[in-house]
Amino acid sequence: MSHSEDLHKRRTAAVARGVSSMVQSYVDYAAGGTLTDVDGREWVDMAAGIAVTSVGNASPKVVAAVQRQVERFTHTCFMIAPYESYVAVCEQLNALTPGAFEKRSALFNSGAEAVENAVKIARHATGRRAVVVFDHAYHGRTNLTMALTAKNMPYKQGFGPFAGEIYRVPMSYPFRDGLAGPDAAALAINMIEKQVGADQVAAVLIEPIQGEGGFVVPAPGFLSSLAAWSKAHGALFIADEIQTGFCRTGDWFASPHESVEPDIITTAKGIAGGLPLAGVTGRAEVMDAVHPSGLGGTYGGNPIACAAALATIDTMRELDLSAAARRIESVMVPRLRELQQSHPFIGDVRGRGAMLAIEIVVPESASPGTMTAERGYGRGAPLGATPDPARTSEIQRRAHEAGLLLLTCGTYGNVIRFLPPLVMDDPTLQRALTMLESAL
Ligand SMILES: *Cc1c(COP(=O)(O)O)cnc(C)c1O
Repeated sequence: MSHSEDLHKRRTAAVARGVSSMVQSYVDYAAGGTLTDVDGREWVDMAAGIAVTSVGNASPKVVAAVQRQVERFTHTCFMIAPYESYVAVCEQLNALTPGAFEKRSALFNSGAEAVENAVKIARHATGRRAVVVFDHAYHGRTNLTMALTAKNMPYKQGFGPFAGEIYRVPMSYPFRDGLAGPDAAALAINMIEKQVGADQVAAVLIEPIQGEGGFVVPAPGFLSSLAAWSKAHGALFIADEIQTGFCRTGDWFASPHESVEPDIITTAKGIAGGLPLAGVTGRAEVMDAVHPSGLGGTYGGNPIACAAALATIDTMRELDLSAAARRIESVMVPRLRELQQSHPFIGDVRGRGAMLAIEIVVPESASPGTMTAERGYGRGAPLGATPDPARTSEIQRRAHEAGLLLLTCGTYGNVIRFLPPLVMDDPTLQRALTMLESAL
């Protein structure tokens, strides 16, 4: 029996079944773009731990910063005895997030916790309750964030009842709705005004590029129309940049690609090189609306995670990882489009920077046709081809067999997404593309 098989037996007996793993190989060590399992097999990493290890695994500055911090103190609780690194991370967040206005930040442990707090703050600051979210949205797995998340299986099935005052409206999904951004926004806005009431809305919460929901890039003008509507009606525009943030899409954040300056931004994933840390950053008057002690948590902004975040941000600046993400896009997108020409089941190639995806469909259905349940929601025009989740899983299985760590996503389970560490070198990226081609 291999070491991994052995570990898998122990795991099955010890770990709850609800927590599953994509592959059954157990990691021994990892670097900037490869993982080596306990049986000595190397994997090319197109997952980065779900867009977390953008600076690579065991990035030198992060390792050194963590080691230095862990020797000084591991925890005091910022709410009891504060320390500089928490303040420094907030300063960085305030400076790096879009918007020249004065900002404040607060730190938490996970993305879901950041989103929960963004909603708490928005409700408190506006005195309103309704939160508007979108089709295909993913915001986490806690009770409130399950309610904000769109997809039932596997995230919500059997876990209700869910939190109230959450309203879901159509997302701009160019491949499936065929609508220009402002038109898609008009649909969403009309639904908000008719079904929720403009003066009831505390926040419009959106991922500038959707993550788990299928790497859906809204048509140009969608985000800016929603942001403008929010501003006009006293609602706060919250960008969930947990997956898109920290250089992933070729800039520090994805909102500026659409010239959007959110009132609140949530961050996590890529922020701290793999250590658990999350942030909520927003307009000073919004953030400071909350009374002292209204926000916090035992571990939020843990000093080791903060030290890792500062080293991660340093590394991102020093290596210009935004440029690295754009370079990955310039290498991958032409290759993916070529593959689309030779593989008619690739219905769409999309994404930005090093957040790229292909959508797998039934080839004969690739042209616009009659709308069916599988073809998408009856919201917007009936475009888009029939999703093919079975072929998607088969491509993923073959990639794993070849040693390529590949993630899928999407409401219909038919999107293959690429999230390489931003430090991945060119030969490794080329290797990944060759392995992908064989799997296809
Ligand atoms: C991953 C993710 C979350 C949840 O983050 P966790 O750290 O897993 O709680 C929320 N929003 C988006 C956009 C994400 O990608």
